[in-house]
Amino acid sequence: MKGKAVQAPLAKNEEVIVDIVGLTHEGEGVGRADDFTLFIQGALPGERVRAKVLKVKKTYGYARMQELLVASPDRVEAPCPIYKQCGGCQLQHLSYEAQLAWKRQHVVDNLERIGKLRVAGAEGEGVKVHPTLGMSEPWRYRNKAAVPMGMAAAVTGGDGDGLVSPERLIGGFYARGSHRIIDMDECMIQHSSNDEIVARVKEIGRELGITAYNEETGRGLLRHVMTRVGFVSGEAMIVLITNGERIPQVERWIELIRAAVPSVKSIVQNVNTRDTNVIFGDKTRVLWGSEVIYDELDGIRFAISARSFYQVNPVQTVELYRRAFEYAALSGGERVIDAYCGIGTISLFLARAAGHVYGVEIVPEAIEDAKRNAELNGITNASFEAGPAEVVIPRWRKEGIVADVIVVDPPRKGCDEALLETILAMKPERVVYVSCNPSTLARDLRVLEDGGYRTVEVQPVDMFPHTVHVESVALLVRVNTDR
Ligand code: SAH
Repeated sequence: MKGKAVQAPLAKNEEVIVDIVGLTHEGEGVGRADDFTLFIQGALPGERVRAKVLKVKKTYGYARMQELLVASPDRVEAPCPIYKQCGGCQLQHLSYEAQLAWKRQHVVDNLERIGKLRVAGAEGEGVKVHPTLGMSEPWRYRNKAAVPMGMAAAVTGGDGDGLVSPERLIGGFYARGSHRIIDMDECMIQHSSNDEIVARVKEIGRELGITAYNEETGRGLLRHVMTRVGFVSGEAMIVLITNGERIPQVERWIELIRAAVPSVKSIVQNVNTRDTNVIFGDKTRVLWGSEVIYDELDGIRFAISARSFYQVNPVQTVELYRRAFEYAALSGGERVIDAYCGIGTISLFLARAAGHVYGVEIVPEAIEDAKRNAELNGITNASFEAGPAEVVIPRWRKEGIVADVIVVDPPRKGCDEALLETILAMKPERVVYVSCNPSTLARDLRVLEDGGYRTVEVQPVDMFPHTVHVESVALLVRVNTDR
């Protein structure tokens, strides 16, 4: 049959018995039925399920689980009542230990398949991939929520009189694989302060007759409510992302929000009038209070403004940064570059033991925060520059800046090639690679390996329990001294 176009052996709506052999990086069960691959949401490796085929492509298809015939020993009851509808978590039906094991294996698979790296077994040569560092209490860990707003017609009357009230403001999460908003007041992975704030903002919005933005018509005001809370400080920020500049009754809004949520230190508006899935627009202004909130990580204080990136799981962030610190192996005099530095969090961790740290980051507001944060902590051996890492660092090199250690912590797409080339040219003794995407990590490690570096170890850290996101930190050392 090889090489010939073949008819898919299954048809839509057909019911099949499927053995699940794997889990995709999106958390779907991978099933085999009649030599055909079926992706089945909610099914786990080792399980046998009865499923109904939803969609058929040439070599694979999608099916919906109808009945669980043989359950995995790792299956647990998902504790969240809206887990099945909500697209936010993907792994709540898998025990936490099994999630951690799966995340490590996901890193290993990527290193081997994409990075062509040899991963060490129990003993022997190769990259050491440690067990995933998990949380002792993997709930309510997020410090930030960005909640999409919508309108829903509410049925009132209760006696089946079918009376439909005017549309009301709702907010929650997008249903799995769609843009339908599920109204929600509680999310089990959010800090309760965020839940509380979003619930109050919705209530007040309803009271004031605020409309939500409608993706289809482009009309309506409120697009998202973003809230962030400092786990140590308790300070909260609210960002109202609006489709247009003018907020009706804005003073009343602020007054009511402040009265309802005393922990709020900052209320900010961001204007986004574009037809896009991107949450933030370009214009940000403080409506009330401070431009920033403060938080603390491992004794270092940070000012965080609305547009700045700040790790969402502060408990695990400290673990991640400690590992990065350990991998950097600083003895006091080193010159360190922290690429993709955000508000300078890793930079300031490292500055405590380095000669000088140079941070670079593309968002200018984050660099303003980073400078302020250095000052706030009395740290004088760190400097920051706004711009693309792949442009600024090559320029630093030309200007004669040298680096003993380079830390990178890029977004999901990984490092720009020009940056990797510059790292190879600068020849730091160590590279510490913090990654939120194992596949681009593996791709970039291959480039660094080919350029004379050896990947020594990788530590996966569970920053996003119950989701499929995998964070890890890798240590590379320079082996080829000829280049
Ligand atoms: N190290 C920081 C931030 C990591 S997130 C922390 O732990 O908090 C990645 C950061 O890279 C974001 O702040 C993002 O704004 C920034 N970024 C994205 N593309 C970039 C580029 N080309 N050059 C520099 N920074 C970039």
